[in-house]
Amino acid sequence: MTTTQHLLLVEDEPTLRELLSVSLQLAGFHVVPAETGAQALTAVRERHPDLIVLDVMLPDIDGFEVARRLREQPTHGLAHPPILFLTARDAAEDRISGLRAGGDDYVTKPFNLEELVLRIQAVLRRTSGRRARHPSWATRHACAKSRPTSSETPSRTPRPAPPSVSAWVHRTARRFSN
Ligand code: CA
Repeated sequence: MTTTQHLLLVEDEPTLRELLSVSLQLAGFHVVPAETGAQALTAVRERHPDLIVLDVMLPDIDGFEVARRLREQPTHGLAHPPILFLTARDAAEDRISGLRAGGDDYVTKPFNLEELVLRIQAVLRRTSGRRARHPSWATRHACAKSRPTSSETPSRTPRPAPPSVSAWVHRTARRFSN
C-alpha cells in the first residue's frame, strides 16, 4: 500500500516557500511549511514528517544546528526523519557540515525542481527500512484509517512536476540567493 508522504518544508523566503509548497504538492506529497528553525523543531515533534527539506540560512537557528538538535530530540520510538538540505551555501565545507549534522542529501540553489523531487524520492527509498521499523505518525495514521477494499483510492505515488511548473520554479528559484 502506498500512502502520501509528508514533507516538512523549512524555508524563510515566503515566495520560494509558497512555490515549493505548491510544486511539491503537485508532485504528490503532503507539505507542512515552516518559516524558522524553532517552528521546524516544533513541527517535527508534533507532526513526525517522513522527510524534512531544510534551508540553512534561517532567521533564528541555522539549518545545521536545527539538524543537530533534531537528532538529539526524543522521538518516542519513531524514526528520526531524513533531512535534505536545500541551500545556496555550496562550498565543500558547507556540504560536509550538512552531512556531519545528520543530513541525508544536500541540494544547492538555484536548483532544478525535477532533480529535487527525484532526490527526495531517492532519500525516502534509501531510508524506507528504518522508517518502516519506526513508522512516522503520518504513516501510522494513514494505515489506521485505510480501507483495504476501497477501489476509489487514487494512486499516491509521487510523480514529477509538469515541465512548465518545473521551469517556472527553476526560473523563480534562481532569484533567491539565501
Ligand atoms: Ca533562507
